[in-house]
Amino acid sequence: MTDTLPAPSTRQRALLAALRDCGDEMSGQQLHRSLAGGPSAMGLATVYRNLRQLQQKGMVRCRHLPTGEALYAPVEQDRHHLTCVDCGETRPLDHCPIHGLSVPQDTQKDFELLFHTLEFFGLCQRCRDRQQLPS
Ligand SMILES: [Zn+2]
Ligand SMILES: [Zn+2]
Repeated sequence: MTDTLPAPSTRQRALLAALRDCGDEMSGQQLHRSLAGGPSAMGLATVYRNLRQLQQKGMVRCRHLPTGEALYAPVEQDRHHLTCVDCGETRPLDHCPIHGLSVPQDTQKDFELLFHTLEFFGLCQRCRDRQQLPS
């Protein structure tokens, strides 16, 4: 993180705190709901705008499910998933298979690496069984 970036705003800190509290990923809708009724309540459009700004600051990462839904997590949460392309079930891996792996040093001279994403897609057992049934 560079010190040239502006510090996160109060709203952005509230979003980050909610993401860290849940210890997992959340969609914009879930974040919106979790803050509703509290001192940090904000509209859905505001949630998405601030999530985008947090991504630009390198504090929040985002991944997309096959359904198109975007899930957000704090950038320090290095977690990857197996996702079924059929039913959309998504389950976390125990550890990051590429932890410690980095891009070549000379690439990093003019590019500050913030995080990586890694996704595995396939079919869960349930969907495989269903597809093998005679139809
Ligand atoms: Zn499935
Ligand atoms: Zn990783």
